[in-house]
Amino acid sequence: MTTESAENMRTVRFIYCDPSGVIRSKATTGPLFAGKATEGIGLTRAQNAVNLFEDLVHVDGMEPVGEVRIIPDMDSYTELPWLNRTASVVSDLRMPDGAEWGGCTRTVLKNALAAAAEMGIEVKAAFENEFYVAEGTPANPIPWADGACYSSAAVDRASGLIDDIVDNLMAQGYIVEQVINEYGPGQLEIVIKYDEALRSADNQLKYRDTVRGTAQVGHGLMASFSPKPYPDKVGSGAHLHFSLWNGERNLLYNAQEPTKISELGKHFIAGLLEHLPALVALTCPSYVSYERLAPHAWAGSTVAWGYDNRECSVRVASPFAGREEQSTNIELKSSDGSANPYLALAGVIHAGLDGIRRGLVPPAPAEHDPALLTGAEREASNVRPLPASQAEALDLLAQDTVLMDGLGDLMGRLYLAVRRAENAKGEANGIEWARAATFNVY
Ligand code: GLU
Ligand code: MG
Repeated sequence: MTTESAENMRTVRFIYCDPSGVIRSKATTGPLFAGKATEGIGLTRAQNAVNLFEDLVHVDGMEPVGEVRIIPDMDSYTELPWLNRTASVVSDLRMPDGAEWGGCTRTVLKNALAAAAEMGIEVKAAFENEFYVAEGTPANPIPWADGACYSSAAVDRASGLIDDIVDNLMAQGYIVEQVINEYGPGQLEIVIKYDEALRSADNQLKYRDTVRGTAQVGHGLMASFSPKPYPDKVGSGAHLHFSLWNGERNLLYNAQEPTKISELGKHFIAGLLEHLPALVALTCPSYVSYERLAPHAWAGSTVAWGYDNRECSVRVASPFAGREEQSTNIELKSSDGSANPYLALAGVIHAGLDGIRRGLVPPAPAEHDPALLTGAEREASNVRPLPASQAEALDLLAQDTVLMDGLGDLMGRLYLAVRRAENAKGEANGIEWARAATFNVY
C-alpha cells in the first residue's frame, strides 16, 4: 500500500534528525523508491557533524571520507498533505553493510529501549510542543494572530492555520489531543497522542515538519520551535511525557500507594533528578535554551519534582478519573523543541534506569513553587539550580558516565563537539544573533 503510494510520489524524503536537532533529508523520486527503500541513500559521515549554525565540525571518525546509508523505516511513511505528491519516511543511518552506526541518533534510542526491555520495561512517550507563529524575518519576527491566552477570540483569529495543521496531522494518522492558544503572542500548543517511545520520537520529526511546513507553504508564515524566540516573552517547551509499561501494566502506577506512584516509579524519578543537570544538555540543548529555564515560566529552573507542580522540572501528572492506570505519567518540563527527540528520550531512559538499578529514593516532593520554598523545605526537597548555560550543561554531560555510556563513544564525542561549536559561535556573535539563527531552523 505505502510502496504503491510512494511510486506515485514526485519525491519521497528520507528524513533523519542530526545531533544538533535539525531535521534533514535526502529525497528520491517515486519510480526509484522501491530500490532505494532497501539499499538506502548514501550520506557522507561528515554531514552528521554539521551543527544548527551550519558549521561543519571536525570529529574523529566523521571526516568527509566514508559513507553511511539512510535506510527508511516504512512504518513511518506518510504523504505530506501541505505539499504536492511528496512523502517522507523516518530513517536510520547505517553502515554500508547494514550494520549499526554509532553516529545515528535513532539507533541510540533503540539501544536505550533495549536496555529498558532487558529490565522488563517498555516506554511510551509524548512530546507536548509549544511554538510561536510569526510574520517578518527570523531576525525581526512579528507575532501573528495575537490574542488573550486560551481565549476563543485568539483561536478564531488563528483558525485558518490551526485548522490546516490539525487536518494535516490527522491526514497522516496522528491523533490530535489538544489545541491551545498559549500565553505568548502568536504562541500555540497543538498536542498529538503518546505512542511507543521510538514512534513518539519519529512522530516528533513529522509533527515539527508538519507545523513548520503548513505555516510556511500554506500560509507564508514562520512557525518557530525555538525555546526562546523573544527575549522578553515566555519560552516554548516540548514537555516530555512518559510512562513505563510491562504489557498492559503501567509500572509507574500502584493503586495501593497513597500517591498512586509505584516504588519503581519513584526510583526512576530519583534517577532522573540525579542526572538532570547533565541531562538538560540533551533535553534543553541549544545556546538559547537556557534563557527559557527561568523561575515562574513553568519550564523548570531547578532540580525539583512534585505532584502537579508546574514550576518543577519533573511533574507527576494527575491521572484521569476512571482510567488512572492508563493515564499515569511523568512530565519532564525542562525539555524543548530544539532537542533531538531520540537523544532526549534516550537520556531520560538511561537516567531513570540508573535510579532503578541503584534503588535511588527521591527527596520530598516540592509542594509549592521551588523558588518560594523556605530553606528547610528546599533542603528536604533537595532543590538545586539547573545549569545556567549551554556550556555548563555540556561540561556536566561530559562528566556523567551513565549518560555518556548511553550515547556511546562516537555519539558522545560527536554530540559534545557539535554543541560546543554551537556554543562558541553563540558566544562570539551574541545572544541576539543566536536567537535569529535558531528561530526557524527547528
Ligand atoms: N511555556 C512554558 C514552557 O516554556 C510552559 C507553559 C505550560 O505549562 O503550558 O515550558
Ligand atoms: Mg503549554
